[in-house]
Amino acid sequence: MVLDRPKQPLQLRDAPKPKPGRGQLLVRVAACAVCRTDLHVVDDELPDPKLPLIPGHQIVGYVEEIGPGIPSLFAIGDRVGIPWLGWTDGECAYCRSHRENLCDRARFTGYTIDGGYAEYAVADARFCFHLPDRYNDVEVAPLLCAGLIGYRSYRKTGDARRLGIYGFGNAAHLIAQIALYEKRDLFVFTRPGDVATQQAAKELGALWAGGSDEMPPEKLDAAIIFASVGPLVPMALRALAKGGIVVCGGIHMTDIPSFPYADLWGERVITSVANLTRRDGEEFFDLAPRVPVQTKTETFPLEQANTALDRFRAGELKDTAVLTIAE
Ligand SMILES: [Zn+2]
Ligand SMILES: [Zn+2]
Repeated sequence: MVLDRPKQPLQLRDAPKPKPGRGQLLVRVAACAVCRTDLHVVDDELPDPKLPLIPGHQIVGYVEEIGPGIPSLFAIGDRVGIPWLGWTDGECAYCRSHRENLCDRARFTGYTIDGGYAEYAVADARFCFHLPDRYNDVEVAPLLCAGLIGYRSYRKTGDARRLGIYGFGNAAHLIAQIALYEKRDLFVFTRPGDVATQQAAKELGALWAGGSDEMPPEKLDAAIIFASVGPLVPMALRALAKGGIVVCGGIHMTDIPSFPYADLWGERVITSVANLTRRDGEEFFDLAPRVPVQTKTETFPLEQANTALDRFRAGELKDTAVLTIAE
């Protein structure tokens, strides 16, 4: 499924099977979860995608061919996960200081390199993950971005006891399970009036759930914003105790309105989370099956990718859309 130009539907098209280059794997794709970032790419909200582009960066597949120059990380037939971070230069100041997520020359799966809305994908083996056995291909797919980048956002909150989450979508649902496993007090903020989601959050174990226009019953030590709504930033800031942190977990957000400096005073922090490091992935895939983090998915055949994207955009998906590719 190919994006020729942003703001147009993807086109179902036959493409030649890619050849794995040096250090690359050829992967037969079994499932690829749909991420909000895919929508941002398709809707022209992110600059300079590769065009034409095969989107998708939560890819689960099986190694079919191994390019030259790969030490024995993977064997033919191995199941692999291909995430958003597809390549880094390994030599810039960020890469050399354990911050490869910020690499100046990083390339991203399904954005600046072709992704997994396809029967085959090639990927740099160094950035692929072995996936925990307890999950099947569809179940594990959403962990590759919603899980991983959610996890990086969560880790930024340090040992915050009272954790707020704004926007209770896919990433939030996964990270809430880890937060509860680690005995955090969880406060969930939804669209005002979204009682059903608030109820679901309470059933999962949130101490409190309410509208994003409400103040929590206690001040928070940290808040993660998963919704791409800039006005949530000053709202979350006002809900923080001194020394608290607001973590913006999305790649795209509408503008943030101005707010009084007094709301930031007291060593409150606002930060964003960009991409992931391979270490985030290793930690997360070690932790997730122990919790165990459960995903909720709705599958679509690959050729119905546009339907999945349209329903996601319209807010009509309850669970994470996963495209499945028949053998
Ligand atoms: Zn770099
Ligand atoms: Zn993503």
